[in-house]
Amino acid sequence: MVLLQSSLRNRQWGVDGTDFISSRAPKACILQAKFEVKEYSNYIGGEWVGTSGGTMESKNPATGEPVSKAARSTPDDVKHAVEEARKAFDSGVWPSKRPAERARVLREISEVIRKDLDGLSLLLTLETGKPLADSKGELLNAANVLEYYASAARHIVGRVPRYSGTDVSLVVHEPVGVCGLIVPWNSPISLLSWKLGPALASGCTVVIKPAGYTSGITMEFMKRIGAIEGVPPGVINAVTGPGESVGSELVKSPGVDKISFTGSTETGRRIMEVASSSLKKVNLECGGKSADIVFDDANMEAALPGAVWSIFRSAGQSCNAGSRLLVQETIYDSFMKQFRESASKIRVGNGLDPATEMGPVVSESQLDRVMGYIRSGEEDGARVTLGGKRLVDGDHAKGFFVQPTVFEGVEGDMRIFQEEIFGPVLCVLPFGDEDDAISIANDTKFGLAGDVWSRNLVRIMKVSQGIRTGTLWVNRHLNPGPEVPFGGYKQSGLGRETGMEGLMEFLQTKHISLQLSESSERVRR
Ligand code: NAD
Repeated sequence: MVLLQSSLRNRQWGVDGTDFISSRAPKACILQAKFEVKEYSNYIGGEWVGTSGGTMESKNPATGEPVSKAARSTPDDVKHAVEEARKAFDSGVWPSKRPAERARVLREISEVIRKDLDGLSLLLTLETGKPLADSKGELLNAANVLEYYASAARHIVGRVPRYSGTDVSLVVHEPVGVCGLIVPWNSPISLLSWKLGPALASGCTVVIKPAGYTSGITMEFMKRIGAIEGVPPGVINAVTGPGESVGSELVKSPGVDKISFTGSTETGRRIMEVASSSLKKVNLECGGKSADIVFDDANMEAALPGAVWSIFRSAGQSCNAGSRLLVQETIYDSFMKQFRESASKIRVGNGLDPATEMGPVVSESQLDRVMGYIRSGEEDGARVTLGGKRLVDGDHAKGFFVQPTVFEGVEGDMRIFQEEIFGPVLCVLPFGDEDDAISIANDTKFGLAGDVWSRNLVRIMKVSQGIRTGTLWVNRHLNPGPEVPFGGYKQSGLGRETGMEGLMEFLQTKHISLQLSESSERVRR
């Protein structure tokens, strides 16, 4: 089972065959190594610029040790970054660059990730706690996405509809302008690539705002981007700091044409409210409470590890986590027995340990939130049938580790069923037939993703069409690549990322109507 789980995990980012575990150092050396705490300024107008706002520290969630220090930026720093991005856009230095040149820059950004995969994944693991193998998978996903958008930059085409003999219409696509890219901490580099790739490909300039927990890895990535030749100053800027001050300043700024945000539904709602005063374009990639539906005819060798990893990958801190497992009544008892057995074997620990399969949650406040939901489930009468506790034995005591937790006997009106927990906590419900599964799956304000496990095509199609989510994976969990769109129905978001749909979000559509007849009669009409 463990082997099956590892091979499934290695496929999660669509980079089959990659040897993720490159560290050959003995486990004890890796775990006791001391890492330099680096300090980062903001990257604005092609320069590293200090702030008067002081610094903020990110901590390793597995040990509580400091990892990096980043600028606690002020609203003035955000204004400065927006001015530089505005200049770079309005001067035409980036939007009018030939697509081939924009594509070259995107390929080089992808290349810097591949060149320093080990160094960047180490820092990503130190800041997020996720296993090194997952960090490498995430970074390779980002490199892949950036390469995809390098190609897409050369395929932005319009159309020329003809509607009469002498009239010609040009329908062209132009970059939206200055974009604020607001990124969460759970997959900070791959989610940044989902925004940065299409923004640069389309000719936009950007101001990036990473989450506080992952400012170090983002600014380390910026350092490598800053060294690439041919990126005019001001095209890519990054400012760090709290969301409530720095992020909201970006959303308010009259110099920003579009906000591309990934994060919680609550923050997404606030961003939409603030952005409404200037009617700037907004893309929101928000929370989820996805259903993972297992039918009795499924291939259990795939469905079982698939369902386990759908929730416990990244310690449940994944927007598309299958956090509600629906199991057909006819197989409920036997499936759940095997599920609990398998989940109880997950090795929880420091992400630097090559044996670790699940790391800690990202912070003490996230730990409190997750434990609060576990208490609420118990108080509401659901049964904990696996886990349910913080891990405090040995080295676990230093970090924010939660046992893989399974709730059964869950009712649809419980908070643990309706709200996004964003931790390793699963709700399980039995269902009767396809209609029942669809109805339970749709009983949520979210509509991000879901998994269906079955061998019956009629059943698969009925359920796939009945569930209101932006993505439905059948007999697999997670996307195979950046070619396809991702995004939410209902309160899971607005717009799409990745695929050509993700590129279109950074483009405006303009109609240029040409009347080419010399006839004065036609001009008057
Ligand atoms: P969050 O909403 O707390 O923060 C996300 C980002 O927004 C951070 O950079 C934060 O600093 C910034 N921010 C916070 N308040 C802000 C404000 N008022 N104005 C502007 N910016 C502000 O989310 P998080 O805890 O970092 O991430 C977890 C959430 O992200 C989960 O809900 C998860 O489902 C969601 N998520 C969604 C997707 C997706 O593709 N749909 C992907 C990953 C994560």
